[in-house]
Amino acid sequence: MTAPIIRSLAELRALTRIWHSAGETIGVVPTMGALHQGHLSLVRVAKDACARVIVTIFVNPKQFNNAQDLENYPRTEHDDARKLASLNVDVIYVPDGDQMYPDDFATNVSVSGLTNMLCGAARPGHFDGVATVVTKLFLQTQADKAFFGEKDFQQLQVVTRLAADLDIPIEVVGCPTIREEDGLAMSSRNLLLSDRSRIKAPLLAEVMNDIAKALNDGLLMADIVPDATARLLAAGFNDVDYLELRDGGDLTLLDRMKPNARLFGAAWLAGVRLIDNIAV
Ligand code: AMP
Repeated sequence: MTAPIIRSLAELRALTRIWHSAGETIGVVPTMGALHQGHLSLVRVAKDACARVIVTIFVNPKQFNNAQDLENYPRTEHDDARKLASLNVDVIYVPDGDQMYPDDFATNVSVSGLTNMLCGAARPGHFDGVATVVTKLFLQTQADKAFFGEKDFQQLQVVTRLAADLDIPIEVVGCPTIREEDGLAMSSRNLLLSDRSRIKAPLLAEVMNDIAKALNDGLLMADIVPDATARLLAAGFNDVDYLELRDGGDLTLLDRMKPNARLFGAAWLAGVRLIDNIAV
């Protein structure tokens, strides 16, 4: 059965009040829509862990540092609702832009440290936008648990930090990255790839897996990254934002294999920015 779509905060609050007073746990899965199996895997984990599940769909303008990227972002609400129908979510919350950010909106949530590297360095203001909207969604849904993908690993760390720092009583749960058969991490942005680019896209994951192997053989990042970057560019990627090894906890930069190391990559392919990360 198709879950009801709620667009007003008042309606959402009326429901969550009833659920909480009945002692039911509430889970939230924040998304920007254009749902794929990666999103649906979070919903399944949420359904297993919580009596009630809210999926939010909001293409958050504050986290886009590029107007064209915001305009091009796929919007597929009807299909999204259809995909969620078989998963028995309780509500799809699709707030209006002016309800989220009225004209006099003046607050910014900013997490320092974790955000000045990787996607934070490549996309100025992006994580302030994420932190601000996620804080609002946590407070609006009053959820007990929130489910985020490791696909956006830095985002997962940022969101975990802000919930702890702001004493928001919510447990942030990280869920594994879901991939296409050819290894490409699922992403709404993959819809923007032409057929030709889609064939090239899995090379990012392939190159990252090869880097992981070389690190495990004892090589240093400095020895590996120039060739890995050249491979991506030779295959038709336009630019590589980063290929970096970092600690999977505090994201400090590493030059070689260490326990809990994680490899992060971001590269541009025909105007689409692809990101990925893997445990090494
Ligand atoms: P987005 O709609 O891209 O903002 O993503 C919404 C949530 O889905 C975030 O927590 C993402 O990390 C998660 N997500 C996106 N792609 C994947 C994937 N391939 N596997 C697992 N989670 C994902």
